[in-house]
Amino acid sequence: TIEDCQKLLTAEIKTFPDWPEKGVNFKDVQSILYKPELALITSHYLQELLPKQDVDFLFNKILCFDARGFLFGFDLAKASKTPMILARKPGKLPGEIITQTFEKEYGLDEIQVQKSLINPGDKVLIHDDLLATGGTAGAAAEIILKCGAEIAGFNFIMDLSFLPGRKVLQQYVDDSKIKAL
Ligand code: AMP
Repeated sequence: TIEDCQKLLTAEIKTFPDWPEKGVNFKDVQSILYKPELALITSHYLQELLPKQDVDFLFNKILCFDARGFLFGFDLAKASKTPMILARKPGKLPGEIITQTFEKEYGLDEIQVQKSLINPGDKVLIHDDLLATGGTAGAAAEIILKCGAEIAGFNFIMDLSFLPGRKVLQQYVDDSKIKAL
């Protein structure tokens, strides 16, 4: 069940205290990848969190974050037969790009997406490995809005629920569309 999966993840994901800086407990997604059985289960239950497409037209594209968002994001894209869009760190993408600046713990960061991939009328689902302050996923949301498209929802492996990430994302979608294992 999904509860078993959540328990397994809690037990198996290695935490590195005070990394990459003091006060951050780094949750290492490597722990999942190193155990193929756990990776399969994680991928399966992440798919279960996707909006149910048979009911309605809920999303038609998936935007995934550089780099750990790519790992399971590609599984989600294949499973839902949905185009996958890479949101990348600066300087990696050719062609016309759209850039969003956002706040990290120390200073500013940027993400970029190829502009032609998101168009008005699109309903884009955002996936990343982990939700912390919501700065990263919020930047993805802003890019989607800049392109004139809609945010279909958010999908994460982990939500560090003691941080305000979920609150930040509630300005974009209803809480029921912010899903994590
Ligand atoms: P945030 O923008 O604060 O929500 O942070 C989310 C992004 O930073 C994701 O791309 C995560 O991979 C990474 N991240 C932030 N905090 C952690 C953490 N404690 N453990 C692992 N990754 C993290």
